[in-house]
Amino acid sequence: MIDAAEAGAGTSAATFAWVNSNNKTPVEYADLNLLGLQAHERAARAADHGGDRWFHQIGTVQIAQTDDEMLAIERKVEKLIANGYEAQLLTPDKVRESEPALSLDRLAGGALYPKEGWIDVQTMCMTLIGRAIEAGTTFAPYETVTDIQATRVTTITKDGSTRHHDGDVVILAAGNGSKRILAAGGMDFPTLDPAVHGVQAGTENTGIGIISTTGPINSGIRHLVRASGIAMRPARNGGITFADHPTGGKWDLGDPRIWTVPALLLERARELYPVLKDTATENVSLGIRVLPEDGLTIADWVTENKSIYAVATHSGVTLSAHLAGAVAEEVLTGNRHQSLNTFSLSRFATT
Ligand SMILES: Cc1cc2nc3c(=O)[nH]c(=O)nc-3n(C[C@H](O)[C@H](O)[C@H](O)COP(=O)(O)OP(=O)(O)OC[C@H]3O[C@@H](n4cnc5c(N)ncnc54)[C@H](O)[C@@H]3O)c2cc1C
Repeated sequence: MIDAAEAGAGTSAATFAWVNSNNKTPVEYADLNLLGLQAHERAARAADHGGDRWFHQIGTVQIAQTDDEMLAIERKVEKLIANGYEAQLLTPDKVRESEPALSLDRLAGGALYPKEGWIDVQTMCMTLIGRAIEAGTTFAPYETVTDIQATRVTTITKDGSTRHHDGDVVILAAGNGSKRILAAGGMDFPTLDPAVHGVQAGTENTGIGIISTTGPINSGIRHLVRASGIAMRPARNGGITFADHPTGGKWDLGDPRIWTVPALLLERARELYPVLKDTATENVSLGIRVLPEDGLTIADWVTENKSIYAVATHSGVTLSAHLAGAVAEEVLTGNRHQSLNTFSLSRFATT
């Protein structure tokens, strides 16, 4: 394993890490995300090593403050239940019972998605790397891949020297780095270039997301909570992590106005949970989404002779536990998991 930084760097270091298949389209992508959720659930319950401890399956409570918002939730819940996804509507009283620290005069109701939760990504990555090393993997952190030719990977090491690694097969899972690496070998890879798409194209920068975390606080927030203009959940430092303010994608990474978003998120959170008035934002991460051109997942061989396999996806935290098994199976046995059929490269017109 080679990484230009530490395990769990890149976009995974700036993610909201909500494990869900809530409102995903098309149906094949919703199914793939459900498989991800279920794979995390199985790993958390696995008896052989006491259960993986990074999936916090606390359920999501979605809050409606207006009748229109409640109507939209009712429609969604109906659809999710029809597709076999666990979801239930909540009356305003039930919302208050589920989230006793919530303080709102106007509450129209909500919904509970009991199987959802969040991943402590750092603990997951560090533990899995540790297990892989124990099982014989060599891990080369802080080594940057500059090119892949056939199954020869060329890197620049920490001291600036060039190194080559030869293998039977290369699995490329370098997030936004994959496009650059393949371009060096003359290959086009259909993910959006984070340096190009976004505000400068005159649109909202859907590629950028802002995650902020408060200092430790006994907030009484019990679930992952979503309401208009915010999503929040417990954080690994004992604080609360926020995402999804509507202004989040409004500015480019280099625009100083982007730094107004964490304060707006905290302000919005305090409207819902007044107990948060006693805390401040301690940590902000700017994340660049890994976005295949159609917003879905890529899991496929890049080369016809099956020397390089690539995985690139949004929702990668949810999907990770399923993709890990499915991709390993395909690379080792040649059997492609049926859940990946929609996510091959052939759907793009690439060279
Ligand atoms: C704001 C935000 C919120 C999100 N919320 C959610 C969510 O709630 N739920 C969810 O499931 N998903 C969410 N996502 C998406 C999810 O975080 C990503 O899909 C996932 O982190 C991608 O992981 P990855 O391993 O593919 O890429 P990355 O995490 O970017 O990892 C790529 C790795 O490759 C390494 N690398 C890159 N280039 C090179 C190179 N040249 N040589 C060597 N190594 C290299 C990097 O150092 C890094 O360690 C969110 C993303 C953002 C930005």
